Amino acid sequence: MKAHDEKEVRILLDGKAITCPEGGNLVRVAQENGVYIPTLCFFDHIDPSPGTCRVCTVKVNGKYTAACQATAKAGMEVEVMTPELLDYRKAVVELLFAEGNHICPLCEKSGKCTLQALGYEMHMETPRFPYTFPDRQIDYRPTHLMLEHHRCVQCKRCVEDVFTDDGKPVFFFQQRGKDTVVAVDYEQEARLTPEQAHRAMDICPVGTILLKEDTIEAPGHRKYDHVPISELPPPAATEKPGAVAMVAAAEQKKVVATVSLAGCFGCHMSMLDMDLDLLDLLQLVTFNRSPLTDIKQFTTRCDIGLIEGGCCSDENVEVLRKFRENCDILVSVGACAINGNLPALRNWLPLEQVMTEAYLDAPTADATGLIPHHEDLPKILDKVYPCHEVVKIDYFIPGCPPGADHIYKVVQNILFGTNFDVPYEIFKYD
Ligand code: SF4
Ligand code: SF4
Repeated sequence: MKAHDEKEVRILLDGKAITCPEGGNLVRVAQENGVYIPTLCFFDHIDPSPGTCRVCTVKVNGKYTAACQATAKAGMEVEVMTPELLDYRKAVVELLFAEGNHICPLCEKSGKCTLQALGYEMHMETPRFPYTFPDRQIDYRPTHLMLEHHRCVQCKRCVEDVFTDDGKPVFFFQQRGKDTVVAVDYEQEARLTPEQAHRAMDICPVGTILLKEDTIEAPGHRKYDHVPISELPPPAATEKPGAVAMVAAAEQKKVVATVSLAGCFGCHMSMLDMDLDLLDLLQLVTFNRSPLTDIKQFTTRCDIGLIEGGCCSDENVEVLRKFRENCDILVSVGACAINGNLPALRNWLPLEQVMTEAYLDAPTADATGLIPHHEDLPKILDKVYPCHEVVKIDYFIPGCPPGADHIYKVVQNILFGTNFDVPYEIFKYD
């Protein structure tokens, strides 16, 4: 860390006058004065900070600036927590999610990932940008490590801070612009001690650098959870409408439709996990088109449609459009509806390769040697699309699957305006 002049200066931080050392890094100055600026590439050991991610963007004297690249000067005016900047930083995080292949339920770093933690922190539900599903490789060639390039956010921490004992760099950036990729000097990587390799995994803020022969020891406990989930008090009882409201609502029951597109029915299982609450819900709503009723066509207009799964076929698209036409409010329930999730793992392979593997080459392929093809069969799309990229979606309930309590609260909130309190700790993408 660079020593800086200890002369004190006065700056304005979100309109409040503070005194700080001249030349102090703005991320640290803000932190020391109780203002949190989110970061991804910033790391205490790396000075100057790489400044690659722009997640720490603030305004200095009215101009957008990466806080990790700015130092305190007398009279400086710094804006951090304005609605515009909160949204700007959230957009940067959303861009990172949309630009890579981030399928948290499958990721070893889930729970210990800074990008995921920022998503939670910023209450990101789904990126405002379309997912790009880039075609990237997994590199198994290193001796100790493997690199999951699908998840790299090119923060440059590994390039700047992973060296052999004699100071040889292990990682370097190759190519430029959108083609930039982190490459490994395999010879030097093989010389890392097990501790250095472990540190390389830890320094990566996401799930790109992983140890081949070790795993993250505590899956599911998130980096920024204050209390382990196992030690949390049970969630407060869901607030239910009072007797009068229940009777009034029951006289004018709301109509719910549900569907599973390219999903595993896990979200529907979760809905059934409402247990006795389902009986309360049934006093307030009736189910129309849904696998729960086996009603296959809409027979009335619905107040709310709950969608599980993304779109992998033309039939999914048609069904989803029908739901949009027939429901006042549409909710994407679960990771598959929101980002494609597991079914979207095929998105970075050509469809032909996927079909050949599934129907011809797989050990479980039958002996016919045919890829099913008939005009009555749904046509498989080139990739799996999240629902909001096909129709307008009004609300999102993340999770794989989201908890029953979470779904119940959202439905009650949307239909009856009851208080909606989902504690941070049970709000999960994984
Ligand atoms: S947990 Fe894994 S998949 Fe999810 S944001 Fe982090 S790196 Fe990406
Ligand atoms: S591999 Fe990890 S540490 Fe290296 S640039 Fe990518 S995200 Fe950053």
